[in-house]
Amino acid sequence: MRAIVFTDEKQLSLEERPMPKPGYKEILIETAAVGMCGTDTHVFDGEFEGTVFPLVPGHEATGTIVALGEGVNDGVYDFHVGDHVAVNPSTTCGECEFCINGHANLCSAWNGLGVVASDGACQEMFVAPSRNVYKLKPETDLYLAAIIEPIACAIRGWDMLPRRIGDHVLVYGSGTMGLIMAQLATRAGAASVTIIDLNTERLKTAAECGIELRYTSANDADRDKWDVVIDCTGNIQAIEDGLTRVKPAGFFQNFGVAPADKMADFSPFRVYRGEISIVGTMAVHNSFGRAVEMFELGAINEKAMTSHSFTLDDYETALEMFRKGEGRKLQIRPNDSESRVLS
Ligand SMILES: [Zn+2]
Ligand SMILES: [Zn+2]
Repeated sequence: MRAIVFTDEKQLSLEERPMPKPGYKEILIETAAVGMCGTDTHVFDGEFEGTVFPLVPGHEATGTIVALGEGVNDGVYDFHVGDHVAVNPSTTCGECEFCINGHANLCSAWNGLGVVASDGACQEMFVAPSRNVYKLKPETDLYLAAIIEPIACAIRGWDMLPRRIGDHVLVYGSGTMGLIMAQLATRAGAASVTIIDLNTERLKTAAECGIELRYTSANDADRDKWDVVIDCTGNIQAIEDGLTRVKPAGFFQNFGVAPADKMADFSPFRVYRGEISIVGTMAVHNSFGRAVEMFELGAINEKAMTSHSFTLDDYETALEMFRKGEGRKLQIRPNDSESRVLS
């Protein structure tokens, strides 16, 4: 069985490995698709806190069940060989104060498959704990369904924001996360959704996803303040700009991942005087099941968002393309025979 292995910081190889075996309450899955995202580059560069090398990357995965470990169906589950599934990559200790107090995504021993210390899905087969595995309908397209994990992160993001009918929402960044946050905004009650990106190609994707107001600068919009401003870039300039555009009583969200050592300037006086809330959001939290449902109900136009698929042989090409910001969402298909242009 073939696997992409990050052998050390900034080093990878395509290795032949023995087939993984599912342990107690674990499931063996034949990988269909794995989305690539910024986290993969941070892990590869050794910038992700806690990563243990060697590691198989890949945390946005779907596939088909090929074997069940002992005890999988002893409790509430009814999994079968052949089931189509999506996998929540986050595993937590269940014992620390954050796990116990309902903040498991902030677990002090948080581990993401393909991100921290457990192998991910950029291999022909991978193993996941049964509690992280979500059944999909048999007719669900497993390639498109690789977007479910990012949707689960976005739903967690919206869980941290108010639900007020008629809010005006401003999103920075028309990449995968910005596009999902913007598409969910209308479901969350937004009166209008505005998206900002310096890259006009990305704004075209936003148009295909039905986002009506698209600009390369918020200065070009017909309003100057928004009730909810969401940064999906992690870019300090975008964050500083966004913070000035929040209406009194409004919310600003740091969704994008800014570099850990960077600081941003904002006016504490405005935050005080306008009762502005600044909120974070971290990965998936009690949101994976809802992401499966919203995906299967067609809440997100994932077709417009995914542009290329790559075989394991072309993993490095995908990583380079991702870094250059070319294409839209890129995905790895470990069992496919050729790399493809999808849209
Ligand atoms: Zn990701
Ligand atoms: Zn914990």
